[in-house]
Amino acid sequence: MAPPGTAQAVADRILALTPSPTMAMDAKAKAMVQSGIDVINLSVGEPDFDTPEHIKAAAIGAIQDGFNKYTPAGGIPELKEAIAAKLARENGVSYSPSEVVACVGGKQAVCNVFLAICNPGDEVIVHAPTWPTFLEQIKLAQGTPVTVPLASPFSITAAPLLERVTANTRAILINSPCNPTGEVAPPEELRTLARECAARGIYLIADETYEHFIYGDAAHLSPASLGADEKAHVITVNTVSKTYAMTGWRLGYVAGPEPVIKAINDLMTQLTSNPTSAAQKAAIAALTGPQDCVRDMVAEFRERRSLLVEGLRNAGYSCAMPGGAFYAFPQVKGDEEDMAVADRLLQEAHIATVPGSSFLADGYLRMSYATSRAKLQEALERLQELL
Ligand code: PLP
Repeated sequence: MAPPGTAQAVADRILALTPSPTMAMDAKAKAMVQSGIDVINLSVGEPDFDTPEHIKAAAIGAIQDGFNKYTPAGGIPELKEAIAAKLARENGVSYSPSEVVACVGGKQAVCNVFLAICNPGDEVIVHAPTWPTFLEQIKLAQGTPVTVPLASPFSITAAPLLERVTANTRAILINSPCNPTGEVAPPEELRTLARECAARGIYLIADETYEHFIYGDAAHLSPASLGADEKAHVITVNTVSKTYAMTGWRLGYVAGPEPVIKAINDLMTQLTSNPTSAAQKAAIAALTGPQDCVRDMVAEFRERRSLLVEGLRNAGYSCAMPGGAFYAFPQVKGDEEDMAVADRLLQEAHIATVPGSSFLADGYLRMSYATSRAKLQEALERLQELL
């Protein structure tokens, strides 16, 4: 056995894991703030808005009413009903509560899906650039991530993903709107993917975390809504984190075929048990309550998107106008590597970003605009000064 205190004292699965680069950058930025440096943090994807009052009130009421015990591992029936009603209302897909499970944040929801469906060596196809968590979680589940680089400007199209399907493919994962690029998959591409996954008997995992953050005319399209065959092969993942400014509450969910949902329920009984009971009540208030808070936040994000992207372009950066999510994804200038640029921005301009290489996109930076316009403006001024 390796001696305690050495790297080998821990399991291979941990040695093979790359910790979240976004969280590392966020921690660095926060440590600098703690030491008195005025860092503008554009690293983490966290809305700066506070959780709306009616959602907080529901949790406070639950705690005061003594709703502080274990609940069923996959969430209380009332929450499952609220999630199913949301999916019917907003996504046009009809799920029974037995086809829905609540998890401890979207991150755990995604991980639970991989743990529930992957046997050792099963391949999961993921488009790149990608949120790196997907790849690490697939490996944790003993699956094999197969990344498919999309051509710039990173449009999510079906053909390159389908080309990589082999006898070992278990699922294709799509994340639209996409973290980090903000790309929104065209409806016809989603239709092709859903149809072909059904025809080939593989799952289509749809991470819909940013579904409300779409700035063009087209509405979000959920592949599960495209027909019975399609629905039978789609696993939808979502979270209240971004839509309702509830990142700290840790409440995500999965909707999909009953055996997968039962597997995740079973897993939760041995992993975390239920998501926090008060957070479940808060999520019910979020999903069933007034939705104007979402519209207001999205309207503000739209303004910030223009401010940041146009500011970056004025500073000489090449930057696509993202159709969704809340990230700008400019190309770094010159020959410098994105890691070095992100480091220089942090050290010299006190702007925290995440290097594109963390998302399998060398030569780019991810900048979250989930922060105030004043801070974005200040960041752009610092950038101009640095240049
Ligand atoms: N999926 C994507 C694509 C994300 O970017 C995130 C968070 O950044 C999540 C899922 C998970 O969100 P959470 O765990 O905060 O609910």
